[in-house]
Amino acid sequence: MSAVPVAFRGSDDDRPTPDEVARRYRTLIEQLPLVVYVDELDAVSSNIFTSRQIEPLLGYSVEEWASEADLFSRLLHPDDRDRVLASHAHTQETHEPLSLEYRLIARDGRVVWLRDEGVVVLDEHGQPLHLQGYLLDITREREAEIQLRQLALYDPLTGLANRAFFHERLRHAVMLRHDDEHGTGLLYIDLDDFKGINDRWGHDLGDDVLHEIGRRIEQSVRPGDTAARLGGDEFAVVLTEPVTPEDAVGVAERLLEEIGKPLESGSGALYTSASIGIAFGSDDETLLKEADIAMYRAKGHPEIGYAFFEPKLDRVAVERSQRIAELREGIVRGEFRLDYQAVVDLDQYEIIGYEALVRWEHPTAGELPPGEFIPLAEETGLIVGLGEWVLTEACTEATRLCRLHGRPMHMSVNVSARQLHHPDFLRHVHRALDSSALLPSLLTLELTESTLLASDERVAQTLQTIKELGVVLALDDFGTGYASLSYLRQFPIDVVKIDRSFTANVASEDGDLVLLKGIIDLGHALELNLVAEGIETSQQHTIVRKLGCQQAQGFYFGRPSHPAQRDLDAVSPV
Ligand code: C2E
Ligand code: MG
Ligand code: MG
Repeated sequence: MSAVPVAFRGSDDDRPTPDEVARRYRTLIEQLPLVVYVDELDAVSSNIFTSRQIEPLLGYSVEEWASEADLFSRLLHPDDRDRVLASHAHTQETHEPLSLEYRLIARDGRVVWLRDEGVVVLDEHGQPLHLQGYLLDITREREAEIQLRQLALYDPLTGLANRAFFHERLRHAVMLRHDDEHGTGLLYIDLDDFKGINDRWGHDLGDDVLHEIGRRIEQSVRPGDTAARLGGDEFAVVLTEPVTPEDAVGVAERLLEEIGKPLESGSGALYTSASIGIAFGSDDETLLKEADIAMYRAKGHPEIGYAFFEPKLDRVAVERSQRIAELREGIVRGEFRLDYQAVVDLDQYEIIGYEALVRWEHPTAGELPPGEFIPLAEETGLIVGLGEWVLTEACTEATRLCRLHGRPMHMSVNVSARQLHHPDFLRHVHRALDSSALLPSLLTLELTESTLLASDERVAQTLQTIKELGVVLALDDFGTGYASLSYLRQFPIDVVKIDRSFTANVASEDGDLVLLKGIIDLGHALELNLVAEGIETSQQHTIVRKLGCQQAQGFYFGRPSHPAQRDLDAVSPV
């Protein structure tokens, strides 16, 4: 008789004990290159069993998985959480298999990509018992995929989108902006005489130049826009947000300014320039062709540097660049003047100061209000010089007014963002105070929310120093922005100027008194000085006074006017 192998003899003595079966089973499971799990069929898929491989993978022990019911849902990557929990819920409901890829965050912060395959196990009556399956670590594959994607979509020299990805983004933008008035905006950028750089300095330096220009382009566009290198020295920017031709001009000018800055090379500073074609439209292929044609037209106007495909839009560009030139000249020629509007104390009922408001006496267009040139001065940086002039002029006028009235007179000066962020701003304030001999406490600097937007630590420090000088800080147009209250907390503001939109309708039947009262009460609670702007009638005056506003300004008390004109009026209370 041949010997029967021991394992198959089948006697009770040789049959492995249940413990032995469990051990063998565990050993087998723990040698698999994946994690085996059994989960409860509940909302957070709480764990019943997890194999030990989970620990090196995610840094949490088997015991932690078993004891913390919501561990799995907590570790899900926030971008994947909803999708994964919804899939689990679907499987529990339908008993269909689970097949998913998602990310979990390991204990040390690593992001681990997993493939999760699970099935619902049913009992003999078809009742669901639990979910069981395995998790496979696919992080390496995913990273390789990302790297491949990077290679397929981005230009290796500049890191910008490559031509293929640019086309995809352009098609997408065109689809989104299909119904917009202007469609999608596209800027086609070509460096001027890049061949000359390559020929003279060699291709390595040429590559450095392209790399640097790519970086500057990337930094000049808004976060949602796509900057791409189309090849050679050609770049493009897709304006994904809705834009007007004026906005596109703003982007083009910013790009030209950045591209035109000197580039440092081993052999000294190197200069480049570019020509930009701008087109708007709703068909991606036509757009690209038209922007390219416009770019060639731009090469013919190197003094402007950009051109639209639509010649009639070129007018926008030409007018704008003309206005900038006029503004520059106007500042040199002294075409600006300040009007002053009275600020009235409502208790004493007397003028306690003035706000300086700038006007441009344009040689051909006549007198222009600030709304027509301050934004341009701001964009071009010309506001820094103009603002310094305003500050000095207003402080000098305040000193004169103090003498004339024989009592302290306050002077409010509007400050724009570019001014405030300028490294010399503090020096400008000092200079204006010194040259006019005005007491710092008689000067108020008016800042709006948009002025304070994007203020960094340095700006906060500048404001603190100005405040320590004794100068008063006011938040202008209060309530028109999004975060007025947070600015009050962040900066050392003493005065709040309540915007005209809150006072305009208070005297009419459907006027919103509640909002105005709320702002005034808030101002009192924060111990701020309140100035109501835009008071035009005696009813408005009575209401803001009753609500407890200390000061007011508006046509009712006086329109902005020349000092010479006002001096003719009696020096008297309002
Ligand atoms: P703002 O600082 O809020 O100035 C008040 C504006 O409201 C002034 O317009 C003034 O003429 C107008 N106003 C005053 N009372 C009334 C009223 O009762 N009813 C109505 N409807 N309007 C009234 P303006 O002079 O056109 O100035 C507009 C804005 O331009 C100013 O708003 C200020 O933000 C800015 N601005 C003026 N001068 C300068 C300046 O020197 N530098 C800077 N950066 N901005 C300035
Ligand atoms: Mg103001
Ligand atoms: Mg205002």
